Amino acid sequence: METTLILFKPDALHRGLVGRVLSRFESKGLQIVAMRMLRMTDEIAARHYAEHVDKPFYPGLVAFMTSSPILALALRGPEAIAVARKLMGKTFGLEAEAGTIRGDFGCSKSFNLVHGSDSAASAERELGIYFPDGLQDWETIQHPWLWDAE
Ligand code: UDP
Ligand code: MG
Repeated sequence: METTLILFKPDALHRGLVGRVLSRFESKGLQIVAMRMLRMTDEIAARHYAEHVDKPFYPGLVAFMTSSPILALALRGPEAIAVARKLMGKTFGLEAEAGTIRGDFGCSKSFNLVHGSDSAASAERELGIYFPDGLQDWETIQHPWLWDAE
């Protein structure tokens, strides 16, 4: 079982797409184990996007991500990190496959609605940024019908 860090970026909230996007993750069978609304600061951005601080798009990315509130979620399930990335689609909405969140809801190279951790190491690091007090361990009644026994 894996847990991944998902962010609903400012464009998802401005465009009123939170419910529809969250529904994709929920319907797939990913379980919400933490959720929080916050304003990303320059400091959080520098931690979260540490690998990108020297990239040319970084200043624009930070301006976008700090412009209004975001939602942070921890989602759990079998191979949740890869499953969530697959649901999200490629980074740019213009290139993301139809049927994915980014492919269906956007056509921008920077406003792409969601963030999802890209590896187990990233997930652990990123979950620590937004949920330092830990996650909610709970069992939904759906587990036996959603997740394989092993
Ligand atoms: N981004 C951007 N311009 C670029 C590349 C990335 O604005 O040329 C933004 C975009 O919002 C993306 C984020 O920076 O989601 C992080 O980039 P990354 O390559 O890690 O993409 P992701 O992991 O989000 O698919
Ligand atoms: Mg990334």
